[in-house]
Amino acid sequence: MKPAVATGNVDVYTLSMVREVLTDAKTGLATGVNYIDKRDMLDKNIYGSIVILAASACESARLLLNSKSGRFSEGLANSSGAVGKYLHDSTGASRGGFVPALMDRPRYNEDGVGGLHVYSPWWLDNKKLDFPRGYHIEYWGGMGMPSYGFGMGMEDLNGIIPQPDGTKLPAGGYGVRLKEEVRRFYGAYIGMAGRGESIAREDNYCEIDPNVVDKFGIPVLRFHYTWSEHEINQAKHMQDTFEKIIIEMGGIPSGKKPGADTNHGLESPGKIIHEVGTVRMGKSANKAPLNAFNQAHDVKNLFCVDAGPMVSQPHKNTTWTLMALSMRASEYIIDQRKLGKL
Ligand SMILES: Cc1cc2nc3c(=O)[nH]c(=O)nc-3n(C[C@H](O)[C@H](O)[C@H](O)COP(=O)(O)OP(=O)(O)OC[C@H]3O[C@@H](n4cnc5c(N)ncnc54)[C@H](O)[C@@H]3O)c2cc1C
Repeated sequence: MKPAVATGNVDVYTLSMVREVLTDAKTGLATGVNYIDKRDMLDKNIYGSIVILAASACESARLLLNSKSGRFSEGLANSSGAVGKYLHDSTGASRGGFVPALMDRPRYNEDGVGGLHVYSPWWLDNKKLDFPRGYHIEYWGGMGMPSYGFGMGMEDLNGIIPQPDGTKLPAGGYGVRLKEEVRRFYGAYIGMAGRGESIAREDNYCEIDPNVVDKFGIPVLRFHYTWSEHEINQAKHMQDTFEKIIIEMGGIPSGKKPGADTNHGLESPGKIIHEVGTVRMGKSANKAPLNAFNQAHDVKNLFCVDAGPMVSQPHKNTTWTLMALSMRASEYIIDQRKLGKL
């Protein structure tokens, strides 16, 4: 079959929606994938001696769970039953504030403000905390180019922050006064977002929905996910820390501090889009779909090199770690090929 894009040594099939991994009924090895060609919506197969999934944590789990056969009745690489389980996202909570000391400054390029220059890594002793693991803090602020929505609620600041002569203007303003206010307050907002490690739990999982398919006719996932007291306590600690930092800076925290009624501002599972863990690594084939080299315990020529294999959230968010693990898996595949084991 002619590939969609021929690139010399590599053929790339674009506009191709993989439905499932194909296997040989006798050997149990992966033989390729079945996909829908989005140009003509026809089902097609492509074959290979090694199959490497990199479709993202939930989609790779979906592909494996949809790859059922007589030999693999619960889905491929799933003798452990763990495919789709241990799904977890980063925790996330945030708060901002206004810092009067940053008002009325000369204009200069502050593009580096934020993650490029400031970052707080995990720094505390769990023995003294009421939650396991930790979180880092990402910062924002500075004189970025104002865009739509810039300075929201800025009019309220006039009633709070005195003029240089000590008087307080009433909140609100239009025309020249509004322009003066924008110049005055511009660059004086800062904010923090915590991103932390949640605990991977078996009972947080995705599974195939027996009743719903996507537009290609492929069964979709449905999700079961709750936060535990660990993540909620972590979010409370984030909020206490954010407020302390803003006040130490002489700032005024924005809005009301999120309380227990909102799980301390803890974002809903999935909101931070750092989902991992659904095709996890593990030493034992009874407990995990993959070994330490992203290779399926049950199907030696099948690999998964996306966020699915990660058993926990890494400190610097997902991408660096999953790329490092993917590189290690790639080197392993090359070595195994050279040894004739794959
Ligand atoms: C808006 C946003 C911001 C983020 N910011 C950060 C950040 O600052 N730092 C950080 O570390 N992480 C960040 N993340 C998380 C990070 O992007 C993901 O964890 C990472 O991309 C996951 O990599 P992956 O290889 O698992 O999946 P992906 O990067 O999603 O790659 C999967 C690929 O497979 C393709 N695919 C899926 N299903 C099929 C199928 N059935 N057939 C064929 N192809 C398929 C997709 O089109 C896609 O190209 C962010 C995520 C989002 C959404």
